[in-house]
Amino acid sequence: MKKKVPEATGFENEIWAYALRNAIEHGRAVPGKVLPKLFGHGLKKEDVGKVMPELRKIVAKVDIMSDKERADSMNLYSQYLKERPEQENFLPALPGHTSGGKVVLRLAPFPSGALHIGNARTYMLNALYAEAYEGRVLLVMDDTIGSVDKPVDPDAYKLIEDGLKWLKIDYGKKVHYKSSRAKEYYKVAEELIKKGAAYVCHCKAEELRKYRREGVACGHRMLPADVQLLRWKEMFADEPGGSVLRLKTDMQDPNPAFRDRVLFKVSDREHPRTGTKIRVWPTLEMSWAVDDVQLGISHVIRGNDLQMETQTERFIWDLLGWEGPEVMHTGLVKVDISGANVSKSKSRAQVKSGEFSGWDDPRTWSLQSLKRRGIKPEAFRAFVKELGVTKNDVTVPIETLYALNRTLVDKSAKRFSFVIDPKELVVDGAPYWKHVDVPVHPEKDDTRRVMLGKKIYVPGGDWRASKGKTVRLLHLYNVQLPASGAKAVHMGESVEAKMPKIQWVSHHVPVEVVMPDGSHVEGVGEAGLEKLRPGAVVQFERFGFVRFDGVEKGKKRFWFSHK
Ligand SMILES: [Zn+2]
Repeated sequence: MKKKVPEATGFENEIWAYALRNAIEHGRAVPGKVLPKLFGHGLKKEDVGKVMPELRKIVAKVDIMSDKERADSMNLYSQYLKERPEQENFLPALPGHTSGGKVVLRLAPFPSGALHIGNARTYMLNALYAEAYEGRVLLVMDDTIGSVDKPVDPDAYKLIEDGLKWLKIDYGKKVHYKSSRAKEYYKVAEELIKKGAAYVCHCKAEELRKYRREGVACGHRMLPADVQLLRWKEMFADEPGGSVLRLKTDMQDPNPAFRDRVLFKVSDREHPRTGTKIRVWPTLEMSWAVDDVQLGISHVIRGNDLQMETQTERFIWDLLGWEGPEVMHTGLVKVDISGANVSKSKSRAQVKSGEFSGWDDPRTWSLQSLKRRGIKPEAFRAFVKELGVTKNDVTVPIETLYALNRTLVDKSAKRFSFVIDPKELVVDGAPYWKHVDVPVHPEKDDTRRVMLGKKIYVPGGDWRASKGKTVRLLHLYNVQLPASGAKAVHMGESVEAKMPKIQWVSHHVPVEVVMPDGSHVEGVGEAGLEKLRPGAVVQFERFGFVRFDGVEKGKKRFWFSHK
């Protein structure tokens, strides 16, 4: 039941409501955070000056209230809050956020290449939560040593940052690097060893697997903490694979994979940031267990594939008496791109070998490639919002992203003719027109002037399909196509519904389109393309949306966005 609030004029109740919520969530209320909310309640921009004195007055009152007073008042005023639309529509509430503390999330990419559509989704989801809760996201580069198959790529750092910036994800100015935090990890390792919760194990990988499978502890596990500590120091001079530091979970744990997880390994490989200076590297889950607490993360949103890592982190937090962040798992989203490869590690090999033109090659499905194809970051944001947090793994067709992008570009994209495999025609009996004005966009009155020369070019495929038949040249007139040769015949101008309509150009420029599968489609485009600026997204009629990339070897080069 709603309680009665004293009559108020204007937006007084709403100001109270948002000022209280702001203060409860962030310790104090800020006028700049309260004001924007009022627009959702019908405040007009021109009336901002009128409400500001009242708003400041109420915020000042809220600021000197005690927590208890704020909570009591909130009971009265909460009815005036409009639910945050994001939470209502697509984001389930963050777990454990009833107290209303500051929300700090983290993006933890492993820098082995550019971000692709799949991993960028998780980062976008974190960013959307940060926005919805007026919190922050930190960028924590997961640059431990990786593995032979998945090494740190020095180029990846910038590629990742560029991708996140393109998505307009605000992670602040500071970037955190695991490779700079080794000392922090070692301190925690020693703490665990001293507690008797970790041990140095010299078992070979096969032995380790065997003991784990059988649920049997190895001899190394039993040694006392002071011996472990010595062995841990020796580990820094050990050969790769000679020893690992393992967490004592339970060798009888029902899940064999959780039995005494490895926390640190020795590696001789060179790291792009630290060279060979660091030899003992934490596993990712060990580094997360430390970072998520030490960097003040309040919530971790991660894929269902990391359940075990979450379990390890919690195990470590309990051992150390740390209060770790809330962890929320979400189903993985597999984007269904027929026949395409979206594996970062595979892409890396193809980029390095030169098989792909670079990290923006469309076949990498990296954010760089999407950008170059004319996909808008707003479309990707909407795509992630639409998917939301899923309980189970889902497969989404790439067309979902395309449809969202189409709604963004359709209104503004100018239409042009593009003719593949051009077939030259001379139209007998055609009216002598110097030009024809055709619509710039089917829903707009604007027209573009297309100059007409003696020759007309139609798609070779259309000509072969309709040889000898009468067709309509879009926005122009009807012609009977020749069965062979170049001579077509003018057949009047009346539009007939059943007549096939085909593209044509007269004055033209050579055009090349880079397709998502890496192939190139060549043809000619109308001369008006000369005026385009690089970056422009246009629609080639009957072909699809394309982004003008620039001139390459005398050809106008476009990248295909989608149909
Ligand atoms: Zn052992």
